[in-house]
Amino acid sequence: MPELPEMETLRRDLDREVGGKRVKTTEVTGRTAMGAVPKKQLIERLDGVKVSGADRRGLILTLKLDSGELLVLDIREGGHLRKTTPKEEVAKGTQVVISFTQGGQLRMVDTTGKMKIWVATPDELLEQEPILTQLGLDPVVEPISWTTFGHLLLSRAQPIKSFLMDPTAVVGIGPIYSDEIIWQAGLRHDRESNRLTSQEMRRLYRALVETLHDGAKHRGTTLGEDGYYDLAGKPGGFQEYLEVYERAGKACSRCRGTITKVKFAKANLFMCPDCQV
Ligand SMILES: [Zn+2]
Repeated sequence: MPELPEMETLRRDLDREVGGKRVKTTEVTGRTAMGAVPKKQLIERLDGVKVSGADRRGLILTLKLDSGELLVLDIREGGHLRKTTPKEEVAKGTQVVISFTQGGQLRMVDTTGKMKIWVATPDELLEQEPILTQLGLDPVVEPISWTTFGHLLLSRAQPIKSFLMDPTAVVGIGPIYSDEIIWQAGLRHDRESNRLTSQEMRRLYRALVETLHDGAKHRGTTLGEDGYYDLAGKPGGFQEYLEVYERAGKACSRCRGTITKVKFAKANLFMCPDCQV
């Protein structure tokens, strides 16, 4: 599943590639979930509108339309977005094709049946996705200060692994980046957020900001066949830099200990038992 660096990469690409373009036609070919809007309405509400830019709220991508509405692209659970020429072969699983007047198409491809696409006003979107009213810090959109982060840690009594994966604390962090951040900070995943020393909080803060920015700089992490691909269909590069995630049995680059897979909160995580304390 894509996390913050992958979605931010897509947002930047969308902003550059479809910002300023006007919709000529929308074709709905597949049976993708249309969210709150029926197929016919999606086509009507997109007809002739101009895309002014791309936004991201947590892990949900939105295109701002000059009609005042938003095209909501929810690929959190599955699906890919592709910007193509009209001539490019239509990939298996293509559900929606938006053609722009100046040429080029935005295609939504999904073989999982979990992608959702719909048009909504900003207020409607908040009603449809109530989580968006409770989102926590987004360190990629807005630089967060160390004191804000420290206060947030102290206000919760959560193991730091759960804290990082809680979208009401920090948005967009899933299994991959949380393991990497916690390793970078040299802490154990089950340390309580409100029991860290001030020095440990600073280490966690620095690891969070640096890991997410590095992830976005390398255009995200792509693992496995169903992994994330960017708007041009290319994989990310951050998988080359992972220190612990899916590296059980390998040597820790910091202490040469052995990376271990551990069960935690009904899921697996990866850590170094020797240097994460
Ligand atoms: Zn180690």
